Amino acid sequence: MLDIDLHCHSSISDGVLTPTQLIDRAAQRGVRVLALTDHDDIAGLNEARSAAATKNITLINGVEISVSWRGRTIHILGLNINLDYQPLVEGLSSIRDGRKQRAENIAAELEKIGIENSLEGAYANTGERGLIGRTHFARFLIEKGYAKDMKSVFKKYLVKGKPGYTHHEWAALSEAIEWITGSGGIAAIAHPARYGLGKNVLNDLLDEFCALGGTALEVISASHTPQQVEAFAVHARSRHLLVSCGSDFHGPGESHYDLGQLPELPSGCTPVWRDWKYFQ
Ligand code: AMP
Ligand code: MN
Ligand code: MN
Ligand code: MN
Repeated sequence: MLDIDLHCHSSISDGVLTPTQLIDRAAQRGVRVLALTDHDDIAGLNEARSAAATKNITLINGVEISVSWRGRTIHILGLNINLDYQPLVEGLSSIRDGRKQRAENIAAELEKIGIENSLEGAYANTGERGLIGRTHFARFLIEKGYAKDMKSVFKKYLVKGKPGYTHHEWAALSEAIEWITGSGGIAAIAHPARYGLGKNVLNDLLDEFCALGGTALEVISASHTPQQVEAFAVHARSRHLLVSCGSDFHGPGESHYDLGQLPELPSGCTPVWRDWKYFQ
């Protein structure tokens, strides 16, 4: 088992735990290196760094950037980013502004099917930054009894073709990769098995990602089956992409997978942390 987890969320975005609570849990679970990768926000990293110092955890600066690519939403992880790089700071801020507008659109769609006050209800579930996403609507809908759990509320209301879904244009792939690599970080495609991409489209995405300076793939995701891990390991090896690993933990009870407890990297894969000084 790896004691490295490079993908998780705090209440700065759509996680349940504060950065400090997240670090406490990571320490209890034997995680030695943790990247906090909140959606489109880096505001939790300073608190996480202070907490990590008291628990002997190495905290990696991370972020998970929402990207639109060929009409689909793709998540790009930035690892070991520099928090002072202005294009990154400003780019993330513009995505968060977009989230506010999208939230109004989602609420308007839900209103059409008779679900009222969802905007206020969703905002009531956000954290100190007020960053709003579908998870906050999901929690509101569950509270009101429209669905029994996260899985069913997404299936019923919040995905493409369902009444609470609205199309949204996120950052361009080129922008996200520039913000990350320009800051000195590594760009990784998050949970690549979760996009349902066919072989040709996946190859196009990988071609474009590599051409733009992306260098890593999250082959080990807690949501990947062993078969998916192996399939993406094949892509990583053949394209010489670094391999990342993450639980994508959002909170106890809400996530199926907890922090840490990730399988070892497949043989022949190069870890994303190869050149990180903490590991020398
Ligand atoms: P957003 O970035 O606002 O579109 O929200 C995306 C987030 O919603 C993901 O990061 C997950 O936390 C959550 N999510 C998406 N799909 C599902 C699902 N099927 N079940 C549970 N959570 C989901
Ligand atoms: Mn999320
Ligand atoms: Mn994601
Ligand atoms: Mn995530």
